[in-house]
Amino acid sequence: MSNTFDAIIVGVGAMGSAACLALAKRGLRVLGIEQFSTPNDRGSSHGATRIIRKAYFEHPDYVPLLHETYDLWRQIENAAAADLFHRVGLLLVGVPTGDVITGVLRSAAAHQLDIHSVSEREFDQRFGMFHRPEGAAALFEPNAGYLLVEECVQTMCALAERQGATILRHRRVTDWSIDSHGVRVTTDNETFLADRLVICGGAWAGRLLTYLAPALEVRRKVQLWFACDPDRFDVASGTPVFAYDLPEGFYYGFPSIERDDAKIAEHSGREIVSDADTLDRELHSADTQRVVAFVGRFVRGATTRVTRHSACMYTMSPDQHFFVDRHPRYENVSFAAGFSGHGFKFAPVIGEILADLAINGATHRPAGFLRVGARTTPVVLACGRPS
Ligand SMILES: Cc1cc2nc3c(=O)[nH]c(=O)nc-3n(C[C@H](O)[C@H](O)[C@H](O)COP(=O)(O)OP(=O)(O)OC[C@H]3O[C@@H](n4cnc5c(N)ncnc54)[C@H](O)[C@@H]3O)c2cc1C
Repeated sequence: MSNTFDAIIVGVGAMGSAACLALAKRGLRVLGIEQFSTPNDRGSSHGATRIIRKAYFEHPDYVPLLHETYDLWRQIENAAAADLFHRVGLLLVGVPTGDVITGVLRSAAAHQLDIHSVSEREFDQRFGMFHRPEGAAALFEPNAGYLLVEECVQTMCALAERQGATILRHRRVTDWSIDSHGVRVTTDNETFLADRLVICGGAWAGRLLTYLAPALEVRRKVQLWFACDPDRFDVASGTPVFAYDLPEGFYYGFPSIERDDAKIAEHSGREIVSDADTLDRELHSADTQRVVAFVGRFVRGATTRVTRHSACMYTMSPDQHFFVDRHPRYENVSFAAGFSGHGFKFAPVIGEILADLAINGATHRPAGFLRVGARTTPVVLACGRPS
């Protein structure tokens, strides 16, 4: 194998596998380097499922990117003859004046998205597996659903390799540097050269991009599965993906898939991880208490018995929007980081944006709001000095 490539991608998780695919499709000689397997359960892209939705409460500017990501997931499914996106709909229950319900309505109105308000009667008839709190709003987004997270990463890697990309697994990048010849990337015992570098390090991004490190906060998130009767809580019984924005926290979950349990977890909460290599993967009683209480109160279709768990990590940016940009000092280095617990659904379009940045230095896609320099002063100041 030659050690010289057109582009090297460091980190082949969600964003890295998508970047490998996008760059390989455009005819570049691509090398992806991943410290674990692809997929793996060490980073942020494991645990069977991820929610995909368009009525984006986080900001309406994400919606055009979501339109493209929906198209790209379909193309990936077609190219691989794979079934990755399950369009089961999303039931959202929440405080009517909260940021989530008002944000969903704002994005839906701005982009004419298909969502509807669920009446009490419809809720009782159709969503009897859930309890609606007194005075809560309920919205249903029929084109939302879930992605099979490990299969998505595996499929994007396989398609990238089919397009000629080389992906090296179980190799940790220890350093990278730039000189007049281009990029030099080193692992424990190899050196690779390329014209361009794309960094997609997930929870390790701060190590690979020291200037961004002060702006990234890694959080421990435990995914829990609860015993349930699949006949009452699977897709065939009409159970959608669901999310509850409550005064006590933000919870979400999925229908039962293949087994007699269903994944339900808390999105809110802040348990900081000082080193992604030493994430605590054990289950503690503090990990279950709040979610068990939520399930007991609001999820009639599941029991409060935890069957299994999986620890995962969010990499938060200060404003919870992604960082997708070129390095401020090196024009041939681009990166995607800080996906703040909501990035997976975007992976294919982020891969295309990274390919645009790597090849053209800019993107025509409406992603300018994700550049570091486009943020408010406190976010820009949270980043360190480029080195
Ligand atoms: C519990 C949980 C629930 C979530 N729910 C949703 C959801 O419902 N919907 C949604 O859209 N998003 C969701 N997200 C967020 C989404 O999963 C993440 O934003 C996304 O997976 C991050 O992708 P990534 O490529 O940045 O990180 P990863 O997929 O973790 O990839 C980073 C990769 O880089 C590798 N790497 C790092 N450093 C090096 C190095 N030095 N050398 C070689 N390799 C290296 C790592 O091993 C890793 O494989 C959730 C996240 C979690 C944790």
